[in-house]
Amino acid sequence: MTMTETRQVKELLSRDQIARRVQELGAQIAADYQGKELVLVGVLKGSFLFLADLARAIPGTDVLVDFLGLASYGDATRSSGVVQITADLTKPIEGKHVLVVEDIVDTGLTMEYLLDNLKTRHPASVKLCSLLHKPSRSVKQIPIDYLGFTIPDLFVIGYGLDYAQRYRNLPYIGVLE
Ligand code: 5GP
Repeated sequence: MTMTETRQVKELLSRDQIARRVQELGAQIAADYQGKELVLVGVLKGSFLFLADLARAIPGTDVLVDFLGLASYGDATRSSGVVQITADLTKPIEGKHVLVVEDIVDTGLTMEYLLDNLKTRHPASVKLCSLLHKPSRSVKQIPIDYLGFTIPDLFVIGYGLDYAQRYRNLPYIGVLE
């Protein structure tokens, strides 16, 4: 594929469907963390749009935002479970309530690594919010405390998710034809 070639994208989850679900997740998270300070930890780059919308769906002032970058070794569409932190959090999370915000849990290997790593930093709690889950590919059973959508075993793009760094800016989630 050349950079100028345009492939058809079949819509899987519309902009409206995503917006409605993000509002519901935000309301649920706000109710669960009422009276507590919450640190949203976005996993770069795929979660950047989801986190931006989710943060605005959680009312109140006790919401902090931080990011970390992960690189997973493997080919373009399959993770190996060997994960490297390419950019770490800017602040310690000891004693904090942490909610990891991820784009998609596929095999679960990436999240298993990250959640184990974060727990060694002694936060008050660590939970996971993932926009998407592909249960058919699970290798590790990762409890997803807040889940947007369960999807079939398809390689999806858009709303932050890429194929070769492209398509992240699509306002919906789709599949390349
Ligand atoms: P896991 O370790 O759970 O297999 O993989 C998680 C990571 O693989 C996600 O954070 C994402 O970066 C990537 N990934 C898994 N499935 C998809 C997909 O369908 N589309 C895109 N763009 N990335 C995916």
